[in-house]
Amino acid sequence: MFDKLKLTDAEFAQIMGHEISHALANHTAERMSRAMATTLGVVAIGAMSDRPGVAMTGAAAAAQLALQLPNSRTAESEADQIGIELATRAGFDPDAAVSLWQKMGAEGGSGPPEFLSTHPSPGNREAALAALAPNMRQLNPRGKLASVHPVMIVR
Ligand SMILES: [Zn+2]
Repeated sequence: MFDKLKLTDAEFAQIMGHEISHALANHTAERMSRAMATTLGVVAIGAMSDRPGVAMTGAAAAAQLALQLPNSRTAESEADQIGIELATRAGFDPDAAVSLWQKMGAEGGSGPPEFLSTHPSPGNREAALAALAPNMRQLNPRGKLASVHPVMIVR
């Protein structure tokens, strides 16, 4: 879905950094717990109802909805800040965070709608990232690529 934006590796790294940041900052966990709270509420209603099957279907729908809710603008700003740092430390040009969102913006309505609907753009996203870029560059002035380690995900 990002094909038509013709993203550079550095820009793609910014998306990865941004998404990883949502995970690191527990934005997903916050939404999960909201979803579970919603589900418990609906199940409680279902237990008192004479049609539990209908209520359970409602609970599943509510949980689904909570997970699809857009990240808040606060979460977006946070993920932008952590993401640009992660990408820079990994060896990618921090300026790519700015050009990435310029491309997203230029694409407008024909951009990747799913990504944009779950990632509401803070109004000053580009400006905020552009302001961060010089400091980020100092973290990794030569753009040294981070070494790659095999990672095992334990659940
Ligand atoms: Zn986001």
